[in-house]
This record gives sequence, structure tokens and C-alpha cells, in this order.
Amino acid sequence: MFGTAETRAWIDTFIGAVRDRGDELTELDRRAGDGDYGTNLRSAVERAAANLAADAPGTPGAVFGAVANAFLHTGGTSGPLFGMWFREFAKTVGAEVSSDVLATAADRAQAAVRRLGNAEVGHKTMVDAMVPAATALTAAAARGDDVRVALAAAATAAHEGAASTEDLLAKRGRASYVGEHARGVVDPGALTVAWFFDAAA
Ligand code: ADP
Ligand code: MG
Ligand code: MG
Repeated sequence: MFGTAETRAWIDTFIGAVRDRGDELTELDRRAGDGDYGTNLRSAVERAAANLAADAPGTPGAVFGAVANAFLHTGGTSGPLFGMWFREFAKTVGAEVSSDVLATAADRAQAAVRRLGNAEVGHKTMVDAMVPAATALTAAAARGDDVRVALAAAATAAHEGAASTEDLLAKRGRASYVGEHARGVVDPGALTVAWFFDAAA
């Protein structure tokens, strides 16, 4: 089980990863997009850090709520999509984070993003990591895995999903405008999802 402190540590680690490595994401978006992804993501996590400092949320659900609000107020296509993703975690996760609750949250969250983005696995977007991560969490919950074990499985699945985007042509987002130029470029949104689950470990 994760309580508020563990959830907060998870999010703080994710914020740190984006601060440290946001340039890698921008470079991917520059090669197959408009090059603002790292900037968009950095402003979202700085807003999240400010929300967390101001609100001092008292439950894991409220921690996710502060993150969701930050993304929903950030520009770029990724802001609202990640905002809706985190919002489902905020709505589903209550006072304690178990692998069962996480599996339900991740499943609702991937469904919300697929609906909003009109995107499916194979379209070379964040969905390509969100769906396998949710599937891995469901399998982990069925095995009765502890939340850390479950999140490690989600991270592995999300990394595999992100890596699978490299050879794809994009069907959604700005990367779809550049055709063959997107081949050989990992989708930065999908990589971010992998970093998010890495941050729990
Ligand atoms: P913009 O294209 O507005 O500059 P960002 O750079 O903020 O958007 O975000 C780009 C990321 O958003 C992509 O890497 C991809 O993961 C994701 N994305 C773009 N369009 C969609 C969509 N329709 N559905 C799901 N994810 C998408
Ligand atoms: Mg962009
Ligand atoms: Mg843009």
C-alpha cells in the first residue's frame, strides 16, 4: 500500500525526472513535431510542484488531483490529455493506493485518453505506453502483487510500449504531419508515461 507520503515521493521523483531530462523529450518532439513538448511538460510539473506546496494534499487521491489540475491548465496537446489521465487516478484512488486500486485507475485513465485523443495503440502516442501499463497493473493485481512490484511491472510494460513507437508512422498529433520523418523517433509522450512509472520504484 502507498499512503500520502509514498504517493508524494513518487510524484516528486517524476517532477525531478522531467526537470533533469526534459530536453531529451523536446529533442524527440523537435524531430517529429514542433519541439515544444519538454517545455510544455516542464511548465506542467512546475505548476504541479506549486500546487503541491500550496495545498499540502492529505490523501493520495488529492496528490493526483493537484497534478491533474496542473496539467489541465497547461498548453499543448499533451497538457489536457495528461490532465484527464491524472484526473482518473485522482477520482479512483482514495486514501490508500493498492495494486487493485491502481489497476482500476490506470484502466479508466487509458480509456479517458483514448476517448479524448481518439487514439488507439499503434498510433504512436502516449496511449502506446498507457495501455500496456494498465494491462500490466491488472495482471499484477490479479496475482496479488504488492504495489511496488505492480508499478515495476507497469514501468517495464510502458518502456516496451514507448520503444515500440520508434518504428511507427504517427496517426495522431503533429508527428502525423511529418510522415516518414517520424520513423526512428520514439514518441515523447509515451516515454513520459514510462518515466512516470519508473518514478514509483
Ligand atoms: P503539440 O502537438 O500540441 O505541440 P505536445 O508537444 O504538448 O503537443 O504533445 C505531443 C504529445 O502528445 C505526443 O508525443 C503524443 O504522445 C501526444 N498526442 C498528440 N496527439 C495525441 C492524440 N490525439 N491522442 C493521444 N495522444 C496524443
Ligand atoms: Mg509539440
Ligand atoms: Mg505545440
